[in-house]
Amino acid sequence: METWNDWKEAQPQVVPMLLSSIKKNRMAHAYIFEGQAGSGKQSIAQLMAKSYFCTNKDEYEPCLTCSNCNRIESGNHPDVHVIEPEGQSIKKEQIEFLQKEFAYRSVETSAKIYVINDANKMTVSAANSLLKFLEEPQGETLALLLTEQPAQLLPTIKSRSQQLRFLPPTNERLAKQLMNDGVDKNHAYFLAELTGNKEAALQLTDADWSFQARSVVLQLMHELYTRPDQAAMTLVDKWIPLMGNRLQQETGLEMIVLWLRDLLYTQVGKQGNLIFSDCQKQFDEIALLTSQRVISQSLANVLEAKRQLSANVSIQLVMERLLFTIQEG
Ligand SMILES: [Zn+2]
Repeated sequence: METWNDWKEAQPQVVPMLLSSIKKNRMAHAYIFEGQAGSGKQSIAQLMAKSYFCTNKDEYEPCLTCSNCNRIESGNHPDVHVIEPEGQSIKKEQIEFLQKEFAYRSVETSAKIYVINDANKMTVSAANSLLKFLEEPQGETLALLLTEQPAQLLPTIKSRSQQLRFLPPTNERLAKQLMNDGVDKNHAYFLAELTGNKEAALQLTDADWSFQARSVVLQLMHELYTRPDQAAMTLVDKWIPLMGNRLQQETGLEMIVLWLRDLLYTQVGKQGNLIFSDCQKQFDEIALLTSQRVISQSLANVLEAKRQLSANVSIQLVMERLLFTIQEG
């Protein structure tokens, strides 16, 4: 289970701010947590609830072992409600259900917390229902609205909430989260570096596509430096069929950037930084065949390839030109 201390470094503005209001017992009635997937919005919402209800907390840090902490962790605390989109949206009935639940329970207990995940997915009528709730809370309530798209929230909801901007996760933290989700270590660091975004990274793992793309990039680039004729065939037989859509084509080029960067790291003796860390031997071999100046030029050529791709030049033509220019040095 995570503690506040685990998040202090990753969210150096948000966490101290929240802790100070917890310590002074002066929390706002509603907070908007905005930030991309993996930035810790849900973890911190859960910590807020634990700090609030823990019967054995140390200043602000919840004990994580009492029955309140455990019930919040498992999603079974009667006074902590989490709402998520059902299908594409959060519907008015879901907000109304929450309000009834609170009205009913307010007789028994004092405080309640509700967390709305993907709050921007509320329908207009759901948002209006919530608005009334924010204006006339029944008893002591704390609303935590989590979103990756704050611009889509109603201005009237924003004006009644305190907005907190979460920093995006570092690639290191992102990689660790991906590993927790079952992605193997080499691949997790690679995807974190490639996308810088948990949702995009998971999209690529889901399809199993990036595993294949990674191995094709390694093969293609190795051949380009050692057996260029073979590289032309690998391009047609493996690369082009794998890069079916624009996102994949851009990701493919981004992988070549990471590959060239690893080659550059090898050239300057910084092998510890390799993203393709399991391929150090290959980079050592190729680093002897080229120079820093040529690699830098190749990186510039990939940028040019990206530009051509966004100008709708066909992927085959873009790649043929790119491989040719890299090969020519
Ligand atoms: Zn506790």
